[in-house]
Amino acid sequence: MSIAFLGLGNMGGPMAANLVQNGEKVTGYDPDPHARDTAAGAGVSLVDSAVAAVASARIVITMLPSGAHVLDCYREIIPAAAPGTLFLDCSTIEVTDARAAADLATTGGHSALDAPVSGGVVGAAAATLTFMVGGPSEAYIAAEPYLKHMGKKIVHCGESGAGQAAKICNNMILGVSMIAVSEAFALGRGLGLTDQALFDVASTASGQCWALTTNCPVPGPVPASPANRDYAGGFASGLMLKDLRLAQAAAHAEGIPTALGKHAEQLYTAFVDQDGPGRDFSAIITSLTKDGPA
Ligand code: NAD
Repeated sequence: MSIAFLGLGNMGGPMAANLVQNGEKVTGYDPDPHARDTAAGAGVSLVDSAVAAVASARIVITMLPSGAHVLDCYREIIPAAAPGTLFLDCSTIEVTDARAAADLATTGGHSALDAPVSGGVVGAAAATLTFMVGGPSEAYIAAEPYLKHMGKKIVHCGESGAGQAAKICNNMILGVSMIAVSEAFALGRGLGLTDQALFDVASTASGQCWALTTNCPVPGPVPASPANRDYAGGFASGLMLKDLRLAQAAAHAEGIPTALGKHAEQLYTAFVDQDGPGRDFSAIITSLTKDGPA
């Protein structure tokens, strides 16, 4: 079954490469020359337009920056796809955009799933991504073998948009908990606690969470966390801010009060304005500690 892969950037490039590694025939398109070269080196057949990529495909995977990109792309390619093509959007976008994209595909005679991921570029390269999938069961069953080539954990979350909903809810927890952990280290330092002492207690007590035990925002207690390399790599603050904004857009649309999610979005907005979008999101601790950078 031929697969069209549109968006061969930091995430899509290695995901497409893993499909090729598993014996799939992948035709790709990306306007960026660097993304094209890297994908070609990984065995993806490159073409000159999104329409050309979908012409011979039965599955179309998109990994694009935003909902506007996905909707524009779908409007362009849906008429060119063979009837009954499976559209799989792995980008992180608004729930409403995901539903609109699925509507475009189904109205055009195709099936569609939203399947955003967590695991970052490391998970994309290692094929250990988690996929959160929304859409009809038949489409999910058809997509699952291909998702398994790119990921380790695949969860069917419900109908169209449910994958995006799960993704933004999870990342709202993550953004809020990283700020809570960072504030605790700041307060601990003010009270004369060492970072290690606070970690030793909280990591095995009721304060335990991923933001503390895996992605610890202070250097030392968790040697693999980005804090030990000046917050290089990891999950970029700009992407955390994007996801917190998507969560707020959804909360606003649904009239759900999310006071901490809103505050987290404000703090990450201020942090990204000051520090830029590139460092790991745990670097927010450098804006919360009394003496500045940890
Ligand atoms: P990226 O900017 O590296 O890649 C996006 C690619 O899409 C670019 O190469 C761009 O040229 C290409 N593109 C734009 N319009 C296109 C079109 N019409 N047709 C084909 N290609 C087109 O971004 P990324 O880091 O790969 O992220 C992609 C998506 O994955 C985003 O929605 C992001 O939020 C999500 N995501 C990223 C991470 C991460 O750690 N990078 C983690 C989880 C989810």
